[in-house]
Amino acid sequence: MARRYDGADKARDTRAQRLGQGLAKVRQSADGDKAAVGHAVPMKILLVEDEDAIAEPLAIGLRREGFSVERAATGAAALDADEPDLVLLDLRLPDVDGFDVCRALRARSSVPIIVVTARGEEADRVVGLELGADDYVVKPFGLRELIARIRAVTRRTNARSAEHEPMRIGALEVDERARRATLGEVELPLTPKEFDILGLLARDAGAVVTRRKLLEDVWQTTWYGSTKTIDVHVAALRSKLGDPGWIETVRGIGFRLRDS
Ligand code: CA
Repeated sequence: MARRYDGADKARDTRAQRLGQGLAKVRQSADGDKAAVGHAVPMKILLVEDEDAIAEPLAIGLRREGFSVERAATGAAALDADEPDLVLLDLRLPDVDGFDVCRALRARSSVPIIVVTARGEEADRVVGLELGADDYVVKPFGLRELIARIRAVTRRTNARSAEHEPMRIGALEVDERARRATLGEVELPLTPKEFDILGLLARDAGAVVTRRKLLEDVWQTTWYGSTKTIDVHVAALRSKLGDPGWIETVRGIGFRLRDS
């Protein structure tokens, strides 16, 4: 049966009914998502919560939905646990502040973190997100809501890591994570601005990147009085690429990186 994970037995009948109706659908879509992203193994969730009255039924509910769940009842246990695919982190822990756990986890990995906060603790949510949490749920929350958050966070973080894959255009490789660009295995000695320009062009090789977009993203300015600076940097980039044909000028609009 659907229930609210707040550790109390408050009246929750109407919500439970509503959740009950929704759960069958969630189960379907959860399976669908798993198939869509090719999860051969269940997603591993680390559930950091000291209160058994909350953690136990939540773990059961999540397992029933196809997740693998490991529990940690303290902050220390959470930091000792094997790295999961996602952390569900209660901020009120018996040994250490949940914020410290969040900060420590984020300092060593990019694992998605959803913090669990108490109703009315608006500041907790803000601080949690500032410390690198990806999202939050507020007690009491339903399984359906939690699963929706988990799916959304997972989609976002998957998209984020895909963004960081090195980009290959012919012999050119641009690795934004390492901030390295190589051409035929030889590293190009680019300045930070030149690298930013190349990265922007490489993300959508063959497409035009406007001068406006370059100014906004590379120079963080919206001042369009003169875009001569762009030309100077693009000229330097072309010369380092050894072939002016790599970057084509689209007159009056911007630039395009050739796509092969
Ligand atoms: Ca707690």
